Amino acid sequence: MSGVGKGITASSIGVILQARGFKVTAVKIDPYVNIDAGTMNPTEHGEVFVLNDGFETDQDMGNYERFLNVSIPSDNYMTTGRVYQAVIEKERNLKYKGKCVQVVPHIPLEVIDRIHKAAELANADITVIEVGGTVGEYENILFIEALRMMNLRDPDDVACVMVSYLPVPSKLGEMKTKPTQHAVRALNATGVQPDIIIGRSNVPIDSVRKEKIALFCNMRPENVISAPDIESIYDVPVNFEKDNLSDMLLKVLRMKAKKPSDLTEWKNFVTKTKNAKKEVNIAVVGKYFATGDFVLSDAYISVIEAIKQAAYHNGAKAHLTWLSSEEFEGDASKTELKKLSQYDGIIVPGGFGSRGIEGKLAVIKYAREHKIPYFGLCYGMQLLVIEFARNVLKLDIANTAEIDPESPHLVIDIMPDQKKKMKEENYGGSMRLGAYVAHLKKGTLARKAYGDKEQISERHRHRYEVNPDYIEQIEKGGLVFSGKSPDGTLMEIAELPEKVHPFFLGTQFHPELQARPLDPHPLFMEFVRVALRLKK
Ligand code: GLN
Repeated sequence: MSGVGKGITASSIGVILQARGFKVTAVKIDPYVNIDAGTMNPTEHGEVFVLNDGFETDQDMGNYERFLNVSIPSDNYMTTGRVYQAVIEKERNLKYKGKCVQVVPHIPLEVIDRIHKAAELANADITVIEVGGTVGEYENILFIEALRMMNLRDPDDVACVMVSYLPVPSKLGEMKTKPTQHAVRALNATGVQPDIIIGRSNVPIDSVRKEKIALFCNMRPENVISAPDIESIYDVPVNFEKDNLSDMLLKVLRMKAKKPSDLTEWKNFVTKTKNAKKEVNIAVVGKYFATGDFVLSDAYISVIEAIKQAAYHNGAKAHLTWLSSEEFEGDASKTELKKLSQYDGIIVPGGFGSRGIEGKLAVIKYAREHKIPYFGLCYGMQLLVIEFARNVLKLDIANTAEIDPESPHLVIDIMPDQKKKMKEENYGGSMRLGAYVAHLKKGTLARKAYGDKEQISERHRHRYEVNPDYIEQIEKGGLVFSGKSPDGTLMEIAELPEKVHPFFLGTQFHPELQARPLDPHPLFMEFVRVALRLKK
């Protein structure tokens, strides 16, 4: 089922195989028909993760990049929609040479081709492939068929790992293996036998239950790995190796390890997560939290990870508080705003549309006036500029064209090429997406944070930009555009000089997308450093 930990399992398998000296890449298969994740609501599907090449993918691609510490191209991501689109295109181009093109084998063959291409591009020894969805449902059946066909072609080339959930019903207090047994039967019916089962549960699996699973699922008890809930996802690779999972996988694949497991770098980071003595309190002000009766922070997973990593590398644990921006609107807003002083730093992450905007602007104003470290990501940067225009430059009802195209002061506006796309209702994959280079201004906070680098490359996902007509006026007013596109036309970072505010900075790009546990992001590092320094 979704949320059981397939993504973290796949990423962790990648880490332990890397530690044996292999070049590893990861492929995600999402069963939905959408071509990419860009058009999906984040409260339903979680964060949209943007790759360097601009493709909008699932948050699992973020997990792979963070765990494997590599950048992954869009070739490593496929959906039902993308696969069908490719097959139909080939058919139209007579690539099937007059054959009747069928769901089986042509769709699974296309899937296999794509897997091979991803492996070749990365020059990978081993490719970890995550099939999304649940065994037994219609949606992913063709991907499991691809797995069967790959296995049939070369059984020594494929290891099949099933991640299964083992419930412990509270009234019973006993772990039940039946759902796993049924899942394996369902998988067997498609012609696939798992080599290894990762048993997810809130407690470890004991030997009695391991043997039961082994007996009913046609495998050896040692191939059932216990993966209980743990404090931190970063512990997972280390825990897997306690059960010798990499040896087990290599045995199935008939491969020899290039070296004994060396997880030193990874373990050093894990030690930092355990030894963090200080605490840094960060408020994240956004809107994609609620789904029915549940509050999810899935929509901001990269932001969360970026903050946590930066905190650990600064010897601190991050304590995150989710604040819904709408709480800062209307009558109660004054008392709500006062509560912001208890935080060491405030973040307004990316977002779209008008709901909760006035609340976010009130929060940014409060952070500016009370010198609370403020970090705006994408929308959070655009709103920083709007707040500055309204309250410092006194440009009445300054706004972004996204919310109020009639505003007399559109300090954030849509660029002509984007306007054209909107007219044509061309919404999918049409934003300014992916990695772009920016130049940093000497003597600024941003430049300092990046270790005095002159040039950086960061990932984008937005339609609107700082309006060129207002740049001069804004800069004269005291806001510094410390990062700009190489031709100087697009504003990439806005900040107040350090002598005015200790950290009041926003980025048009999404720095969180390139933050990695073993390579934390410089801007998040600086933000946390300042927050800790000012902590009362
Ligand atoms: N809605 C804004 C834009 O499209 C910001 C997007 C974002 O925060 N990712 O420009």
